[in-house]
Amino acid sequence: MKRDQEVFDLIEREHQRQLKGMELIASENFVSDEVMEAMGSYLTNKYAEGYPGKRYYGGCEVVDKVEQLAIDRVCKLFGAEYANVQPHSGAQANAAVLLAVLKPGDTFLGLNLAQGGHLSHGSAVNTSGILYNPVGYNLNRETGRVDYDEMEQLAIEHKPKLIIGGGSAYSREWDYKRMREIADKVGALLMIDMAHPAGLIAAGLLDNPVKYAHIVTSTTHKTLRGPRGGIILMGKDFENPWGLKTPKGATKMMSQILNSAVFPGQQGGPLEHVIAAKAVAFGEALQPEFKEWAKQVQKNAKVLADELIKRGFTIVSGGTDNHSMLVDLRSKYPELTGKVAENALVAADITVNKNMVPFDTRSAFQTSGIRLGTPAITTRGAKEDLMVLIAELIEEVLNAPEDENVISSVRARVNETMKNYPLFAY
Ligand code: PLP
Repeated sequence: MKRDQEVFDLIEREHQRQLKGMELIASENFVSDEVMEAMGSYLTNKYAEGYPGKRYYGGCEVVDKVEQLAIDRVCKLFGAEYANVQPHSGAQANAAVLLAVLKPGDTFLGLNLAQGGHLSHGSAVNTSGILYNPVGYNLNRETGRVDYDEMEQLAIEHKPKLIIGGGSAYSREWDYKRMREIADKVGALLMIDMAHPAGLIAAGLLDNPVKYAHIVTSTTHKTLRGPRGGIILMGKDFENPWGLKTPKGATKMMSQILNSAVFPGQQGGPLEHVIAAKAVAFGEALQPEFKEWAKQVQKNAKVLADELIKRGFTIVSGGTDNHSMLVDLRSKYPELTGKVAENALVAADITVNKNMVPFDTRSAFQTSGIRLGTPAITTRGAKEDLMVLIAELIEEVLNAPEDENVISSVRARVNETMKNYPLFAY
């Protein structure tokens, strides 16, 4: 067969784009060669509906072992008792949990999308908002942090069946303990979506929600540095959902409900090649080097936030505890939208995304902010000195976002600098 040059040329173009630029999208990362190899492996040829030992297809002896390895490794990584590694994405994992624990029309609480939540936590255009009744909680206007008092009031008022924590543009640690207390007070289940900080949690740098929540979901491709995909976990403390007598029995029963909600409730055949890549990534995350990498991600984020603040930028909540930050552009550039800022920075090969800031007066298509993160650039070997340069370059571009000369001179510096930072540098 003739090679499909059209597609492979495009893949190479994307490879070059990744090599040349500074990748600051908070939800992105670069996987290792071994993760990549597992994803492009023979396992893509295999159908395996069902779960290890209980499949609807023959010939699953090998993929059963692969999937069990992924389950065992991720349980070890997060101290979980149960794991489902089949969700094709984070949104699928969340949809499966909602399918498992809610009925259509049931009420649940989630962080408002416009305040840093994720669309699968109750957006009107997502199944979470179409099928169920979401009530959004918010950040405190002064502190830029989750307003747990408001969350408690809303929980008492609306009696949700489920409370969801976690978000896509929130740079601070979560108070999982307080959330569990609120959930227990109103008889709700607590689900934490740790998609963004999962890698830092695995490294022990942030609190582990598996200790507090009934159910934890995550993506595997952000700070966890694995292939694109999702997971669902349960810890050892799944206590008496719906008044069941034994916690042990309750966890077992809930694991069956969750498994059925993923397959056949939500998906067909699992992507065993991706599950193999998840197993490789979990294996990497269990190594001491991963902890060092995660520490550098966190250190880099702090330095980048501090450098931007020194240059007069406003960071929502005043800083970051994790890998990400939300820059409110309004104080430094009242006329500049996140959309224009994103386009100008991307033209200079500094990749970021526009993002609404809490209580934004602009729409999601314009926004008043940009979101930045350090996982991908740290995977290329970046240390604190590069963060200082990045802050300088961002300011240079945003001071003159329509000046082609400024953009091309910054782009040249970016491309030259990144020659010193190979992909997969860890
Ligand atoms: N949950 C959170 C908190 C996220 O930030 C994201 C993606 O950005 C998701 C879920 C969804 O993940 P996916 O894009 O894999 O569906």
